[in-house]
Amino acid sequence: MNWSGENTLRYSRNLLVEELGEEGQERLFRSAVLVVGAGGLGSPALLYLAAAGVGRIGVIDGDRLEVTNLNRQVIHSAAAIGRWKAESAADTLRAFRPDLAVDVYPMMLTAENAPALFRKYDAVVDASDNFPTKYLCNDAAVVTGRPLVHAGVLRFGGQLLTIVPGMGPCLRCLISEIPPRKDSPGCAEAGIVGAAAGIVGAWQAMEAITLLAGIAPRPSGSLLTIDALTGEVSRLSVARDPACPACGNSPRISDPLPPAEYRQDPYCRA
Ligand SMILES: [Zn+2]
Repeated sequence: MNWSGENTLRYSRNLLVEELGEEGQERLFRSAVLVVGAGGLGSPALLYLAAAGVGRIGVIDGDRLEVTNLNRQVIHSAAAIGRWKAESAADTLRAFRPDLAVDVYPMMLTAENAPALFRKYDAVVDASDNFPTKYLCNDAAVVTGRPLVHAGVLRFGGQLLTIVPGMGPCLRCLISEIPPRKDSPGCAEAGIVGAAAGIVGAWQAMEAITLLAGIAPRPSGSLLTIDALTGEVSRLSVARDPACPACGNSPRISDPLPPAEYRQDPYCRA
């Protein structure tokens, strides 16, 4: 990365932040992040990762943009309805930051493609909208040793857990199996206020930025719960489970195929 001219100005406010400084900024320039999902969480996460100066960003999403997405998926314009979300998001990112390297994957994340894909990046942001994909991200992160910023949103808030394989718990340490569909309503049933996804997705970007810049102050392993209606934010310590099916003695990817009932949820693309 060239420090002269425009870039020095572009990142000047980052450089003033003592904890980040030139060293942290250099690390961000050299880092690569994969964002799984270009929806409600992915929109702010992608934009703030690009704004921070991350050198390379991969965006994977196997859906096309629908009009019901637009209350929260602010990286897309109305003119992009019908386009692959991964491509529409990449166009916005390139316009925002012409020097950014963007890898575009207009496809679903699967147990087959996840490990090779994760290995191409320093960290992964799980901005997906369904539990099978979230558990697949978790397992693939553990298998490949890549830090993962997991999150989910609904209605007015969401939850976030940063997973650093080998250094703390994973998602399956918290809940070992994918919750049944009937116990996990999506936004098509429960709804979502777009700003809630904005808050949680921006927080995911912040977690990834502090990890990649080497300034993350907290040990991983606490579940953050944000309720934007009441204004309450809480942290719950999660212990690593020695018998965990993902990060226990033999890390592996479980339940590779999403249960059929999760596949048809056309309006929930958080
Ligand atoms: Zn685990």
